[in-house]
Amino acid sequence: MKILNPATGAMLANLAADSAKTVRAKYERARAAQPAWAATPIRQRLTAIRKFREILADRQPDLAQTLSLEVGKPIRQSRNELNGLAGRIDFFLEHTERALRDEKVFADPQGKLEERIGHVPLGVIANISAWNYPYFVGGNVFVPALAAGNAVLYKPSEFATLTGMHIEDMLHAAGIPDDVFIAVVGDGKTGGALLRQPVDGVFFTGSYATGAKIAASTGRRMIKTQLELGGKDPIYVCDDVDVPAAAAAVADGAFYNTGQSCCSVERVYVHQKIYDAFVAAFVAAVKGFKVGDPLDDATYIGAITRKPQLAILQKQVADAKKKGAKLLLGGGAIKGRGNWFAPTVLANVDHSMQLMRDESFGPIIGLMAVADDRAAVELMNDTEFGLTAGVYTTSEKRAKRILAQVAAGTVYWNCCDRVSPRLPWSGVKHSGIGLTLSTYGIQTFTRPKAWHLRG
Ligand code: NAD
Repeated sequence: MKILNPATGAMLANLAADSAKTVRAKYERARAAQPAWAATPIRQRLTAIRKFREILADRQPDLAQTLSLEVGKPIRQSRNELNGLAGRIDFFLEHTERALRDEKVFADPQGKLEERIGHVPLGVIANISAWNYPYFVGGNVFVPALAAGNAVLYKPSEFATLTGMHIEDMLHAAGIPDDVFIAVVGDGKTGGALLRQPVDGVFFTGSYATGAKIAASTGRRMIKTQLELGGKDPIYVCDDVDVPAAAAAVADGAFYNTGQSCCSVERVYVHQKIYDAFVAAFVAAVKGFKVGDPLDDATYIGAITRKPQLAILQKQVADAKKKGAKLLLGGGAIKGRGNWFAPTVLANVDHSMQLMRDESFGPIIGLMAVADDRAAVELMNDTEFGLTAGVYTTSEKRAKRILAQVAAGTVYWNCCDRVSPRLPWSGVKHSGIGLTLSTYGIQTFTRPKAWHLRG
């Protein structure tokens, strides 16, 4: 397995991927180790997680560098991701014990009958992860899953393998037994081999196309399957906003992480009364983003992690232009070594264009004028996806009225591209099924056990 730097094309490492045989052996080790881990007192399990957090902080400079080198993420954004994971771990450290405590839900007055809910770890789970935020999307799963007493077979994306191996080293150094957290290295074929093991749950983050295949393969096995998939997340900008401030915030939501976030802003609807002013302010904001070496602190837009994405972005631009969109900025790959795409803004787009229908996952955005709030709601819902959606307006009432009508797992008023450990992270429609984060995202790694106790 050749690990390439997407910013330069240079080879970073050449590793052996797992075979069907080594995946099987890893599964068997995890299966054998899980009962003892589940029997380890929860405080001891959390002590290891706390230690992992300390190691993450100590090693931040080298971890951020590896992440930027292998996925092309601007170094400041790599540091932000590591700091963000620390915040999520803090949430899990604070809430896991309470979320997993047995609950007495009934006791009759004579003391003859008691009913309790217990939370039992699932067992051995497969955690198949994406490359765009390996610490976030991985950590959302393996941190609470381990804390809840599961063994985890963790397959990092083939585009974030070195980060995945660092994660394994750090968890082991923190006191998670070697056989309780095991990295499985390889691409989709290795992921397929992992899914053929008799695991007790599958927690997947990635594209709808892969998620649909995984759901089909686990469907007959009656095991918990969670899918956190893509998005085509809309923002609607109302006519009452501070235009430059809203334009700067939405541009950041569209271009942060080089547009390669599941909750990147992917469609922008602007009330017609402020459309022209908004478009001008938006283009000015995007012109201010520095494209360049991911290791440079001043860089805001980095490399495109997967080379095939360049052709998808190029196709979306060509299709939009052919159907009448106006190209205001960028529009193509940047020539040279590595995978680069110029920050691209298209105006006067509509829903006949791929740009407004298919996930772009890159530094490219379409802006569209709308007549009123009703039209905006209709357009926001005109998608196969439903991860996040947001509204910019000075009126809380207006925002809540609009957002109540939008089918999405997460909605934002005057913010976007934001994830909180305190809130459940979930999607509707093709954005997935199940959730991570919040206290629900701790309990999701257990199954409820109903106790009827008659004394
Ligand atoms: P992907 O679907 O290509 O790959 C995801 C993972 O699945 C990788 O580890 C890959 O090796 C593995 N895989 C591929 N084929 C497989 C198979 N047949 N069986 C088992 N495993 C297989 O996605 P990606 O390019 O890594 O990630 C980008 C996508 O992830 C985007 O659509 C993005 O929106 C989505 N995403 C969603 C969230 C969320 O929270 N909803 C977060 C991050 C990314």
